[in-house]
Amino acid sequence: MKSPYRGRIAPTPTGYLHLGHARTFWIAMERAREAGGQLVYRNEDLDPQRCKPKYTAAALEDLRWFGCVWDEGPDVGGRFTPYHQSERLPRFLDAWKHLKDAGYIYPCNKSRKDVAWATQAPHNDETNSDTIYPEHLRPPLGTGKVAQTPGHTNWRFRVPSDRRIAFDDRNLGPCAFDCLRDFGDFIVWRKDGLPAYELAVVVDDAAMGITEVVRGQDLLISTARQLLIYEALGLHPPNFYHTPLLCDSSGQRLAKRHGSLSLRELRVAGHTPQALRTSDDWCSGLDN
Ligand code: GLU
Repeated sequence: MKSPYRGRIAPTPTGYLHLGHARTFWIAMERAREAGGQLVYRNEDLDPQRCKPKYTAAALEDLRWFGCVWDEGPDVGGRFTPYHQSERLPRFLDAWKHLKDAGYIYPCNKSRKDVAWATQAPHNDETNSDTIYPEHLRPPLGTGKVAQTPGHTNWRFRVPSDRRIAFDDRNLGPCAFDCLRDFGDFIVWRKDGLPAYELAVVVDDAAMGITEVVRGQDLLISTARQLLIYEALGLHPPNFYHTPLLCDSSGQRLAKRHGSLSLRELRVAGHTPQALRTSDDWCSGLDN
């Protein structure tokens, strides 16, 4: 039997949300609504250095102002509480242990500099040379299996060679990425004791019964990585719907530096959510 639609919005409280976030979350909400399903709000506040409670509060307030409504979340509760990722560490540790015992991940103490230097090897694709972890820096298979805790080191997922990760995006259609060409061994656990985004998001989307993930197209490669994690953990992946990114009038992708396009500033400047949502390209002229 097909499970009922469950979507989610998952902001990271490192700053004020901008119109780009709002548009993605709005699409997520509409899709949940059209499918007669549920929408979960998850606060992705894993990193205590960068995430601030004031931004958590602001995100909830700004998205409510914008017109977003959710069925479960930190402010309304629900079956899958807690909805703050910082309170879900034991689940991430279980996943780390599973991946480690099964040999999918290895401890990696190479510095960024080591990796940067090694990636200057001639065979790497120029565009990816700073993201592909060089195969010759990998330790032998089975390394790290006896570790009882992640310790103070990064852990990387050993990406299989000769694999193409393909998925049918609900918005973009067929997508495919080649392992070790489009992306390399990626970090699943950080040396500061926290799970990396790729692991935490998979564990939580699966635990919360999410059936479709709606997010920006900048995370397409992350989706390929995450599909490997689903497979390694023996979990059924959700569907994916990647949204186009919002750009400013000079064609640059919106980011936190676009203070004038934060929902907060727009509200203060007298814009209404209705008008913002109905303008053709959402932010035309607003950043001038
Ligand atoms: N917290 C992540 C972000 O804000 C969520 C990305 C996702 O939707 O998977 O970028």
